[in-house]
Amino acid sequence: MDYLPVFLRLDGQPVVVVGGGSVALRKTDWLRRAGARVTIVAPRLHPQLALRVARGELTHVAAEFCAEQLARAVAVVAATAEPGVNAAVSAAARERGVPVNVVDDAELSTFIFPAIIDRSPIVVAVSSAGQAPVLARRVREQIEALLPARLGALARFMGARRKAVQRSLGVLARRAFWERIAGGPVATHVLKGDEPAAERALARELLTSQLTAPRSGAALGEVYVIGAGPGDPDLLTLKALQLLQQADVILYDRLVSEAVLERARRDAERIFVGKESGERGQQERIHELLVRLAGEGKRVARLKGGDPFVFGRGGEEIEVLAAHGIPYTIVPGITAALGAAAAAEVPLTHRRLASSVTFLSGHAEPSGSEWRFLANPEHTVVVYMGVAQLAHIVAQLRAAGAAPGHPVVIIENATLPQQRTVRGTLADIVALAQQQRITAPALLVAGEVAAFTAQLAGSGAAREAAAAEPA
Ligand code: SAH
Repeated sequence: MDYLPVFLRLDGQPVVVVGGGSVALRKTDWLRRAGARVTIVAPRLHPQLALRVARGELTHVAAEFCAEQLARAVAVVAATAEPGVNAAVSAAARERGVPVNVVDDAELSTFIFPAIIDRSPIVVAVSSAGQAPVLARRVREQIEALLPARLGALARFMGARRKAVQRSLGVLARRAFWERIAGGPVATHVLKGDEPAAERALARELLTSQLTAPRSGAALGEVYVIGAGPGDPDLLTLKALQLLQQADVILYDRLVSEAVLERARRDAERIFVGKESGERGQQERIHELLVRLAGEGKRVARLKGGDPFVFGRGGEEIEVLAAHGIPYTIVPGITAALGAAAAAEVPLTHRRLASSVTFLSGHAEPSGSEWRFLANPEHTVVVYMGVAQLAHIVAQLRAAGAAPGHPVVIIENATLPQQRTVRGTLADIVALAQQQRITAPALLVAGEVAAFTAQLAGSGAAREAAAAEPA
């Protein structure tokens, strides 16, 4: 380790920044966030720095650098464009034993600025010891993506209750208690912005902790109902990733890809609960598992393909959770229709082609008038779970008045490396799907938009081609 990461208390302390350009501006802003009293030494100032001086936020010494200016400084930053000046600042600071940072020059520095994530009071600092600042920034971005936006609020919430908890719990119980707070329903409530609910949950946890011996594990469990998106793990939401990192158990469906599961906590228990077709009672078994695992105090991630509330039975599961008083959080996911639309470049609505869209299950049986509405080519229909019913769906649309040339597209394994797209019309899609051996998971999109290609957009060629088919 080339540098020891430490956190410097600068509140109210004098710091000197030599240089008045945009680099000095950036460093000055960080120093001020930590409460430092900054003096800028520079003949000329960046307008933003001049503004801060005018507001009285900084002191400006409009002069060339000289060593005396460091008399009371607890830290110095050299941010000029002149190597000679930077070297002089470094030498003067070292002589006085004052920590110095020369921007972009590790040799002349005794401290360096890390890449910073500020969720105060939680602060993360990443450094590459000056060797690869771009890499350090990328690492920061990756960590930042994993940290909830309200992490600081959670730290403050916990900090404000430390003393009270200290009074009511013994040393052993305390640690286990805070572990449960940080990773359980209390944290979930604070991160959602609902502090009253967090307060109530904390009071319950405190009571449980006082009544039970330390580490008996009589904690409150909770369930995260998470949409895993259509398959590509990069389409997970940040919130899904955060909760997958803290779950103890993951219940996942068949449509959740291996690549998505890889993003979960390594040591989490994984339980496959996919419903193979015709397997009765599986949904009830899922309900029982959810209730039992959460009852054991576990944090359970219920991971579903796409979005939990689009043909995902998420509604039924939260009914069961609510009935048992189990806290839960719902995280939306990118539903297959949206994933497929983007991946196959089929806009679901388009100013010229369609102004409304219906998500239909292949198992649904719309009425005659509903089919007539769906048969309008300016209305987009997306059929989920429709592979086995394809011929039936096509026949219904035709019977309701859709033309043989009504455009359709099938997207199989959307957003995954093995994605396939079959474009056709109501007249030929059944044969095409058979030829290409299309299997689930696949979506059918019907309507003018199904013939859309970005290259032809505006030429109207796609629509003319479709309209040319005999009725
Ligand atoms: N809740 C899920 C849908 C579950 S129903 C969602 O919001 O996406 C299962 C159906 O979704 C499949 O039969 C298929 O029609 C569709 N589906 C799911 N993932 C898909 C994918 N990657 N490509 C194409 N269709 C998919």
